[in-house]
Amino acid sequence: MSTKQNSVDNASLEDRLYTVKYEDPGESHLDVKVPGICEERCRTDDCVDVCPADVWREGEDGVPHIAYENCLECSSCRFACPHNNVVWTYPENGSGVTYSYG
Ligand code: SF4
Ligand code: SF4
Repeated sequence: MSTKQNSVDNASLEDRLYTVKYEDPGESHLDVKVPGICEERCRTDDCVDVCPADVWREGEDGVPHIAYENCLECSSCRFACPHNNVVWTYPENGSGVTYSYG
């Protein structure tokens, strides 16, 4: 195994996230479809638990806050929501996340 691969394998999550570049799209590409479903029917907050970038955060009224600027565009929240209540699109105009390779 090469030294380069070892350094990647040993990097912490925070170190890996630091290599990701974001361009703020200016408005959220994420939302909830029906806030009342989060508030009244959802007991698990899977969107909060599954997000690797701490985008979804529990709100006091039961509707999550969304720090969309940090989104890694992995789609996990979209499929984790047991109520199919996540609005998920890519950020517009090529903004959002850029990964560096090599
Ligand atoms: S998992 Fe779905 S229904 Fe539950 S809080 Fe998140 S978006 Fe709302
Ligand atoms: S797409 Fe991934 S990183 Fe973005 S909010 Fe959903 S779970 Fe979090």
